[in-house]
Amino acid sequence: MTIKIIPGAKWGRRAWAQPIHAVPTTERQHFLVHYDGGTPITRTGNAVPQAVDKEHHGNGWAGIGYNFLVDQAGNVYEGRGWNLVGAHCPNFNRNGIGVQVAIGGSQEPSEAAKAAVVALYAEASRLAGKNLAKSFHGEHFSTSCAGSHLIPWVKAGMPLSGAQQPAQQAPPVASVPAPRAVKTATNASQLAIDGVWGKATTSLWQKLMGTPVDGIVSKPSALIRAVQHTVGSPADGLLGPVTWRAIQRYIGVTADGVPGPVTIKALQRRLNTGKF
Ligand SMILES: [Zn+2]
Repeated sequence: MTIKIIPGAKWGRRAWAQPIHAVPTTERQHFLVHYDGGTPITRTGNAVPQAVDKEHHGNGWAGIGYNFLVDQAGNVYEGRGWNLVGAHCPNFNRNGIGVQVAIGGSQEPSEAAKAAVVALYAEASRLAGKNLAKSFHGEHFSTSCAGSHLIPWVKAGMPLSGAQQPAQQAPPVASVPAPRAVKTATNASQLAIDGVWGKATTSLWQKLMGTPVDGIVSKPSALIRAVQHTVGSPADGLLGPVTWRAIQRYIGVTADGVPGPVTIKALQRRLNTGKF
C-alpha cells in the first residue's frame, strides 16, 4: 500500500525553531501510537497538525514532535517525517517513530485512521529493514496516551476490518443491501462500475472516509463533509454543484458539476482502489 503523505510545507508547518538531528531510518526499532489527549477533537484538515505544531512550539520545542499525524479521514500529515529525531516520548525519540491519531477523550478511531496507521507502520518497518515493535506512549511513560480505544487496538496487533484488509473475509459492503454490486462485481468488496450511484457505492465511500456506514446520504451528511474536506471544498455537508466540481477535479473527470454516469463510474473506480 502506498501512503499519501501531506508534506509539512503543504499543511502550513512552521519553520523549525531549532535545528533537529537526523537519524538513519535503519536505527528505528519502535513504532509508538499516540492520541491527542483527554479532550475530543473537532478540528479537521490542516487545522489538525497546525494546532499540534503550535502547541509544541509553545513547549519550547523545535516544532511538531510527532513523526506523523493521522486524522479521522485517514489523511497523513508529515510532522518530523522519517528522518528526524522526534519529540513524543522520552528515550524513544531517536529509535522510535511516533504517530499521533488525532482523536481525544473517548473518540473512537475511524477505520480510515487505523488503516493509515497500519500503512505507516508497514512503511516504517520497510525503511528500518525490520518489523518495528508496536507500542503506545503509555507503555514507555506514565501517561494515559493513547487512550481507551487505541491502547487495546495496538495491544491486539493493530488489526483492520473489512475492505482495507483484503486478506480478511466477509467484506462489510456485502452486509448492506447492494444487489447491483453483488451481482456483477468479481469480489463482493468491489463495486460494479455501472455508473449508478446506489447504496453499495455510498456504503463503500462512507467506509473509506471513516463516517458511519448506512448507505444513505442525508442532508447534511457526515460523508459529504468528510469528502469536502478531502477534495477541498467548503465543508457544509451538502452535495451541490460546487462540491461535485471539486470531486470531479479530484477524481480526474470533467468538472461540470453534474454527477452523470461518467463521473459515477470514475468515482466507483476510485472507491474500488480502497482509498478516496
Ligand atoms: Zn502520547
